[in-house]
Amino acid sequence: MNDVEYLKSLLGVYPDFPKKGVVFQDFIPIMRDPVAFETLITHFMHHITSHTLRNSQSSKIDVVVGLDARGFLLGPILALRLGAAFVPVRKQGKLPGKCTTASFEKEYGTDSFEMQSDSIKPGQTVVVIDDLIATGGSAKAAGELVAKQGGKTIEYLFVIGLPFLNGHEKLDAPSYSMIQAS
Ligand code: IMP
Repeated sequence: MNDVEYLKSLLGVYPDFPKKGVVFQDFIPIMRDPVAFETLITHFMHHITSHTLRNSQSSKIDVVVGLDARGFLLGPILALRLGAAFVPVRKQGKLPGKCTTASFEKEYGTDSFEMQSDSIKPGQTVVVIDDLIATGGSAKAAGELVAKQGGKTIEYLFVIGLPFLNGHEKLDAPSYSMIQAS
């Protein structure tokens, strides 16, 4: 079993959560196993240094943007390892001060994400991270916030991808999902 297969074997899979018909994929069990969690972070670091930076012809990542809420569990660790800033994207109304806002489609109606203004300087290179990409709506909104502040998203990173939903097609930069769920 390779590293990714091992990480996949640790995922929690919950049919009908949070509502009937949804199969919820939970990466939190990986965090309960320090060796597995280290493997996950090391895998992302290896991907960023050997693939993301090379393909984008950038010399470094300036900012890691993490999505509310599970992106907060991964983003700051990667940011520290990369020597980058960490910037949170939160649901509307949670961040103090002046904020940049972007809306996205949910199954019923719309929701809004915010980033504190001036979190990203024009021209800075950014990776956006979250635990999972489904329809891609949340990641797309995060990318819009980065663009509004003049940042350049060079990749979207996810622990889990649901390829059958084609969420990556909504995004303005390449995406990488470590584990493919079905
Ligand atoms: P999207 O906007 O449709 O791509 O949904 C992705 C967002 O919903 C992410 O912030 C995820 O944390 C959350 N999400 C949706 N489905 C799941 C799941 O099965 N497990 C964990 N998070 C999920």
